[in-house]
Amino acid sequence: MNSPVSLLKRFFAYYAPHRRLFVLDFSCAVVSGLLELAFPLATKSFVDHLLPSRDWGLILAATLGLLGIYLLNTGLQYVVNYWGHVLGIGIETEMRRKIFDHLQKLSFRFYDNTKTGHLVARVTKDLEEVGEVAHHGPEDLLIAVMTFLGAFGLMVSLNWKLALITGLVVPPMTWISARYGSAMTRNMRELFGRVGEFNARIEENVGGIRVVQSFANEEHEKALFARDNHLYRGTKLDAYRLMSKSFTLSYMTMRVVQLFVMVAGSYFVLHGELSQGGFVGFLMLVSVFFRPVEKINAVLETYPKGIAGFKRYTELLDTVPDIADAPNAIDAGHLRGLIQYERVGFGYESHKRVLDGIDLSIKPGETVAFVGPSGAGKTTICSLLPRFYEMQEGRITIDGIDIRAMTLASLRRNIGIVQQDVFLFGGTIRDNIAYGRLEATEDEIWESARLARLEEMISRLPNGLDTVVGERGVKLSGGQKQRLAIARMFLKNPPILILDEATSALDTETEQAIQASLAELAVGRTTLVIAHRLATIQNADRIIVVDETGIAEQGRHQDLVSANGPYSRLHRAQYRPD
Ligand code: ADP
Ligand code: MG
Repeated sequence: MNSPVSLLKRFFAYYAPHRRLFVLDFSCAVVSGLLELAFPLATKSFVDHLLPSRDWGLILAATLGLLGIYLLNTGLQYVVNYWGHVLGIGIETEMRRKIFDHLQKLSFRFYDNTKTGHLVARVTKDLEEVGEVAHHGPEDLLIAVMTFLGAFGLMVSLNWKLALITGLVVPPMTWISARYGSAMTRNMRELFGRVGEFNARIEENVGGIRVVQSFANEEHEKALFARDNHLYRGTKLDAYRLMSKSFTLSYMTMRVVQLFVMVAGSYFVLHGELSQGGFVGFLMLVSVFFRPVEKINAVLETYPKGIAGFKRYTELLDTVPDIADAPNAIDAGHLRGLIQYERVGFGYESHKRVLDGIDLSIKPGETVAFVGPSGAGKTTICSLLPRFYEMQEGRITIDGIDIRAMTLASLRRNIGIVQQDVFLFGGTIRDNIAYGRLEATEDEIWESARLARLEEMISRLPNGLDTVVGERGVKLSGGQKQRLAIARMFLKNPPILILDEATSALDTETEQAIQASLAELAVGRTTLVIAHRLATIQNADRIIVVDETGIAEQGRHQDLVSANGPYSRLHRAQYRPD
């Protein structure tokens, strides 16, 4: 999939929309390269013909001519420089958009196993390095090849023996760039990995700084960071060592060859095989010839970085989302909420089953409560419904339609989830409520705030709905966050509702207050409640007890209590008679 050739093809595919700009840029680069080659020849004529003529008029005219050429070349260089960047930034932006779009599609399982910091590094740092190449890479490469071959051709035309001596530089330089180029690419890959590790560490530390400080574990965190920092330093040092070595080697090679050229050139001039002007022109050509070689260091840094970055980019882009719309998936429309699990089996990892042969039928509008020990699989049962994870066996239907036959977006539009920890975005209360339905009007937002009993609290705030909630909602209490989540759900208005321990983290008083809002939210919806405190679900239409073996028992509260099974044991444990 990612052989060098196909990688190159994929890279150049990004140029397609910018074809005209690329052609302009490229043509300017070619002309500019040709002009670079013309200067040594002009100098040769200057020394050999103009100088002996002792005609100042001609000399000045020639100088003016050169000035014109210089100006033209400056203009061309400007186009190559500026428009090259315009082209590069266009490509970089497109890649960034693509990778972000792709991230939206990847499943819970992917994110379970990936560190956020790594992903951030791929979208920022990696693409910046790819951008560096995209901005100038192809033109630079073209100019390099052109001046290299052109200069050599002209040198041959001036004196082929001297040209061959200059050409001695090629084999060792090829060896050096091959040897160090691939080492650098490997090194850069490692370096980017380290940057990702770094980012992940910082992300986790800052995200959990309240935990860090409350445990007074700053020293421990510092040590962890120092280790990553040290590893990064090591990799970076490797890079500099490689660059310095290759630079020293190539510098030495070029200078030695240059000395050969000086001596041999002098010999040829003295023996009449080369004119003095030809020698001067030849020496200028040698520096044009060496220029791409001298840039080897820059090349050794930019290209490997770009290649490594692009490889990592394509890797992420090639991660196939393990949950996606089926080819002919239908829009689910507005579902009634008849839910059926048929012999559903699932495990997060292949060797460990979490659910086995789950059969379940829930009527539209019914409220079903799941209870049971922690880790029994209650959350998992509910996560399969919106296809956060894909079951491995059996099937789930809503209103008789297999959920895998519906588009993900239309399926998820029909399901609302309120969890224990509410994730709020860093914006305002308004933004966070409106997340339930982005196109909601001001009136609708207020109405859902009222239904969630947030209205009073919001109107007491000086900035009202425009109050900023802080990162992840840190400026709100647990109860307020939960009410915000409920308001969001009123606005979304889905026919199916999942309440996963929505009030478990709250104190009893707040819990009771919020239970009322949740009960209101559940009216007319098929509701799956996961509850820790049994008191909150006694009125459910049905209670399902889940344990390690699967569904252990189900029925109404009163019947289960008198059945003297697992539920009555749970119940007795929570309501120990005084
Ligand atoms: P419950 O909600 O009943 O407490 P869960 O459904 O959360 O239980 O978990 C059931 C089992 O699946 C547990 O053993 C848990 O460790 C495991 N589990 C839950 N989520 C994941 C996950 N994202 N990746 C791997 N294992 C998980
Ligand atoms: Mg759970």
